[in-house]
Amino acid sequence: MKFSVRSWALVALLASFTLLGSACSEQASDTADAPAATEATAAAASQPPSSRAEEIQRSTADINEARIVKAEPANWLSTGRTYDEQRHSPLDQINKETVQDLGLAWYWDTGTRRGLEATPIVVDGVMFTTGAWSVVWAHDAKTGELLWEYDPEVPRAWGRYACCDVVNRGVAAWEGKIYVGTIDGRLIALDAGTGEPVWDINTILPDRPYTITGAPRIVKDMVIIGNGGAEYGVRGYITAYDTDTGEEKWRFYTVPGNPDDGFETVDMELAATTWRGGKWWEVGGGGTVWDSMAFDPELNLLYIGTGNGAPWNRYIRSPGGGDNLFISSIVAINPDTGLRVWHYQTTPGDTWDYTAVQHMILADIEIQGEVRKVIMQAPKNGFFYVLDRTNGDFISAEAYVPVTWATHVDQETGRPVENPEAHYANEMKRIKPGPLGGHNWHPMTYHPGTGLVYIPALDLRFDFAQDNAFTHSPEDWNLGVDFKTTAPPASAEENIDNLQNIRGFLAAWDPVTQQEVWRVQHATAWNGGLLSTAGDLVFQGRADGQFAAYDAASGELVWESPVHVGIIAAPVTYMVDGEQYITVMAGWGGAFGVASGAPRHRNNVLSAGRILTYKLGGKVELPTPEVTYLAVPTPPEMEYSEAQHLRGQDLFHQYCAVCHGPGVGTSGPIANLMYATEETHQLWDAIVVGGAYTEKGMPSFSHALDMEASQAIRAYVVERAKAVIEFCESQYREDYPELLDTACEVPQVGAIGGGQ
Ligand code: CA
Repeated sequence: MKFSVRSWALVALLASFTLLGSACSEQASDTADAPAATEATAAAASQPPSSRAEEIQRSTADINEARIVKAEPANWLSTGRTYDEQRHSPLDQINKETVQDLGLAWYWDTGTRRGLEATPIVVDGVMFTTGAWSVVWAHDAKTGELLWEYDPEVPRAWGRYACCDVVNRGVAAWEGKIYVGTIDGRLIALDAGTGEPVWDINTILPDRPYTITGAPRIVKDMVIIGNGGAEYGVRGYITAYDTDTGEEKWRFYTVPGNPDDGFETVDMELAATTWRGGKWWEVGGGGTVWDSMAFDPELNLLYIGTGNGAPWNRYIRSPGGGDNLFISSIVAINPDTGLRVWHYQTTPGDTWDYTAVQHMILADIEIQGEVRKVIMQAPKNGFFYVLDRTNGDFISAEAYVPVTWATHVDQETGRPVENPEAHYANEMKRIKPGPLGGHNWHPMTYHPGTGLVYIPALDLRFDFAQDNAFTHSPEDWNLGVDFKTTAPPASAEENIDNLQNIRGFLAAWDPVTQQEVWRVQHATAWNGGLLSTAGDLVFQGRADGQFAAYDAASGELVWESPVHVGIIAAPVTYMVDGEQYITVMAGWGGAFGVASGAPRHRNNVLSAGRILTYKLGGKVELPTPEVTYLAVPTPPEMEYSEAQHLRGQDLFHQYCAVCHGPGVGTSGPIANLMYATEETHQLWDAIVVGGAYTEKGMPSFSHALDMEASQAIRAYVVERAKAVIEFCESQYREDYPELLDTACEVPQVGAIGGGQ
């Protein structure tokens, strides 16, 4: 069967996909409504009784360095459980023999349809966690009863600066207070007993589109927080604040500002020698510290991971070359001074969005007969690194996913050897990993018993091309990379190939031999973070809507349970009254989840988010979601020329695709415009140019788009709808049902488009 050119466009799930997400906030219903109560939360209240508040105050009052280092087995006191961030629990009541009896103890509906990425903190039977728009909750960890809720009331319009969904990865606890960073750049200390704010400070520089999604870490009575925003254009830094007062103690910038303004520190003076020829400070330079940290109290070193350069494209950012310190680096900082002790750059002169903010794990492991104090990371660039954490010396690095940008990391120099074919300044290049990396923020885990690191890995590619028309625009992404390459290709076969190249897997990695020991291939990409336990289990939620346990030694699937929504967060475990519990937050979203949007599996039906808690003998059942699978409806009549919809295609992929999906194909939490109502079509210009839906999080694009451009985009959306209808009725649907079913019929729970 043959098709017209138009029908090639198919579905939007581009393997090449990336970090999509600017301005993504189509969520009228998001956190505005109170969370739905389950049987466990009938007594949900914004404030606990004062006796309970005092009890929580007492149990959290002495959370400090000694207690986090001691790491009592029943609790989960810090985001990585311990300062070494191993995310391994010594609890073993739930193990390979008993896991068959694992069942749901309680669940709690968050009432949101955006990504849930948080790792809960659990202290003596109380759980503190966060959801979309930086909302904080305290629950009874045994029953799920809501004890308090704190909503920082982030202005929804700020959501446009969240590259990768309005997510939050959790809180920190210290001496009776709970700390959260907000998507609009604030750091807030809450009374652990009541959720009442104690102090609330702004951490971001004025007039720059910073966001905070990462969990704070606390060392030596200082709360440490970084930020994101390098896709838009910011200068990265972390700041240390006094835990009691919020007073700033020090700030460490990761990249230099304008040299003409002088340097804040000797570290910036050194870094500036590695930036050449450009005006990087105008865009910002990047190097944001948006997720991982670790701390070694004995060495007195705080480790931070830094992000990509801003703009991505180094030929624009630093045209004279240079490594561009300290982007894409692990930096060890003395927390008493805020100054660098050592650094190791994973991707010198990064030009592919290869951040090194990914999870870092500290462990003492025997290598060639010698016990080494190591720091381990699987950054986006695809190599698994083992470094000496006392001094930053390179020990080893090998590829844990397919890598084409470099051939290997040189054992003598510790530097990657770039593949000349990865340079896209003059022509488009297809490169692995893509900008989502071989591994993203999803936490890994290290099991001291097996000696293995477990990696939630991604196998994705991307077509990089230089944006020759690049100019800095503070309201938009500033990459210097042409996102028109994310439009669906011109042949059905290429589209099928793209879909088949969206892959993800769970890898067990031996850090000593630098080899994969086993792998579980998953149905699709963007699966959840990990937990390992002394029960010799590895827990992972998956993009296909299942929560699962694997044998840590063999990778055998030993238990799984459907949750009706894709899971991206990492589980935790704790004990209350002699029973071990496992908790995971389930809510599909994040960079890939928002834009590529693909549940890609019938079990991931985009139910609203939930906190799910399991124990042996748990008998609670989830309600069966009412799901309808809707084919793309016939679009409204619209007259347009070929030139018009082709212009619309370019504009769509420049301004819209990071939220609404390449090829208009999202089936994530942001509206799929192919399902837009007649009313939306009538209001089109008022929304896109006039900002009519700003309060829903869809901002005006009047800085870049006029009504003619807006209508060209609408023409492209209509053209796409026609093409997808034709394609989905074709033989391809029958030939590739596993690829095309969920793309041709988007699962609808509640409102069409997931989040309207
Ligand atoms: Ca980035």
